Amino acid sequence: MTQALAERLAGVVGPDHVLVDPAVVEGYVRDWTGRWRGDCALVVRPADEGQTAAVLAEVAAAGLRVVVQGGNTGLVAGGVPEAGDVLLSTTRLTRIGPVNPVAGTVVAEAGVTLAALQDFLRPHGLELPVDLAARESCTVGGMAATNAGGIRVLQQGMMRSQVLSVDALTVDGRPLVRMHPLVKDNTGYSLSALLVGSEGTLGVITRLLLRVVARSASRAVVLLGLPGVQAAVDVLAEMRVRVPQLRAAELVDDACLRLVLAATGEPDPLPRRHPAHLVLELADGPAGLDRLLTALAGAGVTDDPLIDLAAADDAAGVRRLWGYRDRITESVSAFGVPHKFDLSVPAARTAEFVERCGALVREWPTRDPLSGRSPRPFFFGHLGDGNVHVNILDADPRDDALDDAVLTLAAQHDGSISAEHGIGRAKAHLLRLNRTGDEVAAMLAVKRALDPDGRLGRALLPFDGARRPG
Ligand SMILES: Cc1cc2nc3c(=O)[nH]c(=O)nc-3n(C[C@H](O)[C@H](O)[C@H](O)COP(=O)(O)OP(=O)(O)OC[C@H]3O[C@@H](n4cnc5c(N)ncnc54)[C@H](O)[C@@H]3O)c2cc1C
Repeated sequence: MTQALAERLAGVVGPDHVLVDPAVVEGYVRDWTGRWRGDCALVVRPADEGQTAAVLAEVAAAGLRVVVQGGNTGLVAGGVPEAGDVLLSTTRLTRIGPVNPVAGTVVAEAGVTLAALQDFLRPHGLELPVDLAARESCTVGGMAATNAGGIRVLQQGMMRSQVLSVDALTVDGRPLVRMHPLVKDNTGYSLSALLVGSEGTLGVITRLLLRVVARSASRAVVLLGLPGVQAAVDVLAEMRVRVPQLRAAELVDDACLRLVLAATGEPDPLPRRHPAHLVLELADGPAGLDRLLTALAGAGVTDDPLIDLAAADDAAGVRRLWGYRDRITESVSAFGVPHKFDLSVPAARTAEFVERCGALVREWPTRDPLSGRSPRPFFFGHLGDGNVHVNILDADPRDDALDDAVLTLAAQHDGSISAEHGIGRAKAHLLRLNRTGDEVAAMLAVKRALDPDGRLGRALLPFDGARRPG
């Protein structure tokens, strides 16, 4: 069966783009964290929408399940397939353009990476106003499918705010949504908006019309060392009022900073250790830095003897200071296979949540069977959006009870179990912590309308109660 399908698909995409060699397929069935490992019948890489439609029709005729994958940087295992699935990789859908500077839009195929799109837009003086540390690999299709957030949500919103419309196919390769090249188009339900955040379960996005904004030529960054998470929340509350143009406000706890220093060999950016750090960014290099420092002085921050500060308004300095935040995820992974959580809690409860969650992790009864060490928590994230990333090292990778305890704690603090990474396969069984039975039933009704046989994706909805396969 697989052999016959592989031959038919090779007729569509060419033999080089149907992958069955286990050594090659391995890179597609293991997730970025290394915690999830699946399997698949084959990987197929179509080069355009026509080939994608033909591939989906062939897979439908064979009655197999399809999992769509972009850059495979998702952190909730939404793109991890199971034995017998067909993995449809969008990495060859890489055409970009046209740009429309009047409307502030660009068209990009789903497999375009964020970095490639920004490189393309730079000469036009434009950029996509979403930025993530996974920018070199994550694709705009995957970012839309997960409604990715990142470090600029504070000012520009998540992917949902940037996706104006899409081209998408049904699970059997028929057109589902056609892209309308308009900024404003309130003609009935927005099916494009429905696909944003659908995590590859409703349709296959092949092309997107994206909102772009003027690119600021230079940036200013301040990294503050603070006495705790509550102090970071308090400084941010002041700065949001004093500097309405604030582009980013990121939390980095001391454990994260120590890990980055150990992994990268970079020097400590501040003269003393602090329990928490806040990274603030504004556009306009020196002028931006001037505004930031004036606002911090007005809020009494620069004179506070408990607070230290590092600042930069040149490209190299800005990159260096952002490195302490950007390199947390890779630094955590350099020290083991982490349990990763992407939560949001109301600003007023952030410090309380971090404290309780830290205690829960440190007192957790199981250990990493390899190192024999006890779990260690790391807290960082997009503080301006109430988004806290909790990473845990030295926990048993198979200990799902720890995941459930952390996610339940977030829900008990009026929080969300998924701020921006999505539900994927990792949290599908906990959807009810944040959504009512009626809401889940409505989601299932939409799913059944668009994919009656449940053949598209393995993320989000607990159809088969799938948990971690590895
Ligand atoms: C270092 C690092 C930093 C990160 N930082 C952030 C961050 O700050 N903010 C944030 O929100 N996320 C962050 N992420 C996770 C983020 O979700 C992904 O980076 C990105 O959004 C997914 O893009 P991808 O192309 O890799 O998608 P994949 O991982 O390939 O897929 C993700 C999901 O989207 C579906 N999908 C992919 N392409 C399509 C398509 N064309 N049509 C339909 N469904 C599709 C898949 O089936 C899967 O369910 C980070 C990840 C890493 C590794």
